[in-house]
Amino acid sequence: MHAPDLTNLGKFYIRGRWVNPISANQMPVLNPATEEQVGTVSLGNRDDVNRAVTAANEAFQSYAQTSKDDRLSLLIAVKAITEKRLEDLAQAMRIEMGAPISMARSAQADAGLGHLDGFIEALEALEERLELSNGDTSVREPIGVCGLITPWNWPINQIALKVLPALATGCACVLKPSEHTPISAMVYAEILDEAGCPPGVFNLVNGTGTAVGAALSRHPDIRMISFTGSTNAGIAVSHDAAPMVKRVTLELGGKSPNLVFADCDLEERVATSVAKTMFNTGQSCDAATRLLVERNCYDQVLEIAKRTAAAVEVGNPAEEGDHIGPLFDKVQFDRVQEMIEVGIQEGATLLAGGPGKPQDHPTGWFAKPTIFADVSNDMRIAREEIFGPVLVIIPFEDEGEAIEIANDTPYGLAAYIQTGDMDRAKRVSRQLQAGAIHLNGAGMAYGSPFGGYKHSGNSREGGRMGLEDYLETKTLHGF
Ligand code: NDP
Repeated sequence: MHAPDLTNLGKFYIRGRWVNPISANQMPVLNPATEEQVGTVSLGNRDDVNRAVTAANEAFQSYAQTSKDDRLSLLIAVKAITEKRLEDLAQAMRIEMGAPISMARSAQADAGLGHLDGFIEALEALEERLELSNGDTSVREPIGVCGLITPWNWPINQIALKVLPALATGCACVLKPSEHTPISAMVYAEILDEAGCPPGVFNLVNGTGTAVGAALSRHPDIRMISFTGSTNAGIAVSHDAAPMVKRVTLELGGKSPNLVFADCDLEERVATSVAKTMFNTGQSCDAATRLLVERNCYDQVLEIAKRTAAAVEVGNPAEEGDHIGPLFDKVQFDRVQEMIEVGIQEGATLLAGGPGKPQDHPTGWFAKPTIFADVSNDMRIAREEIFGPVLVIIPFEDEGEAIEIANDTPYGLAAYIQTGDMDRAKRVSRQLQAGAIHLNGAGMAYGSPFGGYKHSGNSREGGRMGLEDYLETKTLHGF
C-alpha cells in the first residue's frame, strides 16, 4: 500500500530547510494496527527550539510587513499543494495513528483543505484598518512569533487550525506536533515548503511536551502559544507562559452530553449518535460520550444502542470501509481498558463490548466498542475523558434534570440535542454550557468557531474568530 516518503522524518524543518537535529534523542514511530516500527522520529531539545525561534523571529520582521494579497496568494498556493498531497496525508495518519483509510481521506486529511477554505474567506473579510467615529484609527497587526502545540488524535485538523491563521495574519511560527504522529506533520511541512512559504515563517521541531513544548511556552521571543491537548497539559503551558505575559489559547478536553428526548426519531437518532461516538475510535475531544436519555424511552434506547454497538465493525485501517481502527498506542489502550474495569467496579451495567481486544484482532491496539447503561453522573466513567470507543448512558426524568446533568461536568466543549420539538431545542440550547450545540446530528462546518467553555478551553479556532488570536490591535491617534 502507498506510504509517504520518510526521508525527512528524522530531521526538523527550520529556516526553509530540513536540518539535522542538535539533540541526539530519538523515538520509534509505531503503527498501532500492527505494532511494527514504521520509522524513527528525532526528539528535540531547548537548543533545537532556540534555533527554530531565532529563524522565526528573523523571518517575522519581513513577513509581518507583507500585504493581505501576498498572504492570500500563499494560502491559495498551500491549497493547491495540499490537494496534490492529500493521499500522502491520509496514508500518514493511517500508518501513525491507525485512522482507517476511508475516514483518513474523507475526514482527517480533508480537514487540511476544509480549514483552508474557512481561513481564505476569513482573511478576505478581515478589516486590517478601521477608521473610528472619534477620528482615531485602529489597525490589526500580527502578534509575533507563535508556538503551536498539537495532539495526535486529529493531527492535520489541529495543525491546520493553528498554522493557517498564523500564515494568514503575518505571524511566524514554530510547530511542535505530537511526537506520536510526526509523519503527517512532516508531509505538512513539505506542503508549505513546496507552496513557497518564506524561509523561517514556518518551522517544525518534534519532541516531547515536557522538553520542546515547555521550551516553547517559556521562550522569551514567543508572543503567543496556541495549545490543543489535555486540560492538565494546558494548565502546565499556562503556568510556563505566565512570566512572559504571553497570550495563551487553549483547546482542551471534553465529556460532551447528548440529550435524547422521547420526541425525536429514536431509531435514527440513537443509532447515529452511538456510531458517531465510536468514530475515530472515540478519540475526539468533542465526542458525545454521555448519552442522557429521557426515562420514558430509556429501554427502547438501550435496545437500539446495544444493536448499533454490535454492528460497529473493528477492522484493518489499510482496508477501505466504515469500520473503526485501533487506539493510537499501548498507553491509550491501557488507559481505556482501565476505565472499562472502573465502570464495571462502579456497578454500571455493561450493555456492549467490555474489557480486552476483539477476538479477530489479537495484534494491534484494538478495543471493543463498549457501552455502559444505568450510569450515574458521579461515576468516574461519567466524569473523566476516556478517549476510546466507550459510551455511558444516563437516564433523566425531565428537561430540567437533563440540563442539570449535562452541565454537571468540568468540561464544556460540545453538547448534542435529539428532539423533534424546535422550541425545546432552542430553550435547552440556551441553558447548556458548551462551545457548540449540535441539533439532530448536524455536524461541524469548516469556518465556524470551535472551542470550549470551562475546562475545555478559552478560545475559538477556525474561520474569522480563528484569526483573532493571532492579531494585536494598535490604535493610531493623530494620524
Ligand atoms: P496531551 O495534553 O498529552 O498532549 C498534547 C500536546 O501537548 C502534545 O504535543 C504533548 O506532547 C504536548 N504537551 C504535553 N505536556 C506538555 C507541557 N507540559 N508543555 C507543553 N506541551 C505539552 O494530549 P494528547 O496528545 O493525549 O491529546 C488528547 C487530548 O487532547 C484530549 O484531552 C483531547 O480532548 C484534547 N483535544 C482537544 C481538542 C480541542 O480542540 N478542544 C482537539 C483534539 C484533542 P507529548 O506528546 O510529548 O505529551
